[in-house]
Amino acid sequence: MVIAKNIHKYYGGTEVLKGVNLTINKGEIVAIVGPSGAGKTTLLQILGTLDKPSKKGDFILEINGINLQNLNDKMIAAIRNEHIGYIFQFHQLLPEFSALENICIPAFIGKKDRKETEQKAKELLKFLGLEGRMKHKPSELSGGEQQRVAVARALINNPSIILADEPSGNLDSSSAESLHKLFFELRKKFNQTFVIVTHNQELADMADRKLTMRDGIVI
Ligand code: ADP
Repeated sequence: MVIAKNIHKYYGGTEVLKGVNLTINKGEIVAIVGPSGAGKTTLLQILGTLDKPSKKGDFILEINGINLQNLNDKMIAAIRNEHIGYIFQFHQLLPEFSALENICIPAFIGKKDRKETEQKAKELLKFLGLEGRMKHKPSELSGGEQQRVAVARALINNPSIILADEPSGNLDSSSAESLHKLFFELRKKFNQTFVIVTHNQELADMADRKLTMRDGIVI
């Protein structure tokens, strides 16, 4: 599902990732933990094609069997839209759009059919217990609801993999717990793969596998 080998990243003269190797299997829920500054977000952004590795020897970065190394930016953007869903710490929903519209945006970017997309978005809202919140703007939703809308947005294109960066970092403990349960329900229902950067011990302990990063490597 995801294969990364010899991933390096420099910011200026500082080596932030020092040759990361990992493999993530389909349907796996993997937590990435480690102290602040270890390189977790940088790694997640590279796995999610939002950033590129620095050249230091050959590297491999494969998502769902597609090797990204020699693809141009346009091809990478298309793969990102089709194969990868993101959930961030701060929901990053667009404030002027409703919950339903926010969920549909990645599908519209991917030029999917409008009616089918809206139907799927409504099904996702229902699955997430938000059918009554369809027309609400983000500011009219609670933190937990906003984050569930962000989960639906991440799912709308049926991505192969969901990458989450501190998804419950901004939630109270009960909303965090239901978000964590939701990830496992989604895995059960859709065999969805998750890579989650988290400081939340409970979530990390629930994961199938916990990868610890320290000082730019997975230890
Ligand atoms: P973590 O997610 O484990 O807290 P990050 O991946 O955010 O770690 O950051 C790893 C290191 O890279 C930190 O020292 C951070 O300051 C540095 N860093 C991250 N992004 C940038 C950037 N865009 N420019 C320069 N340095 C950066």
